[in-house]
Amino acid sequence: MELCRKCLTEQLSEQAYRTVSEYISLIPSEKKTDDITYRERLKQCQSCDELINGMCRKCGCFAEIRAAYSVRHCPHEQRRW
Ligand code: SF4
Repeated sequence: MELCRKCLTEQLSEQAYRTVSEYISLIPSEKKTDDITYRERLKQCQSCDELINGMCRKCGCFAEIRAAYSVRHCPHEQRRW
């Protein structure tokens, strides 16, 4: 698979996206980010140089999973969200 900057797993492969989606679906609703905030967070990730193949190089996790937890924040020095 080629390296893709600006890609979330959603744009990478159906299997990667399914795995991430299943994980996110298991997050309890009280810990989950609301849809609008989630999309805004991912928009920031997609314009960030630290995103590669859906993973954040700052924390090593899938950006979609990190963004899905309401209490988490972006680990970038500039705290993009
Ligand atoms: S540093 Fe922040 S904005 Fe950049 S990919 Fe990671 S979580 Fe997203």
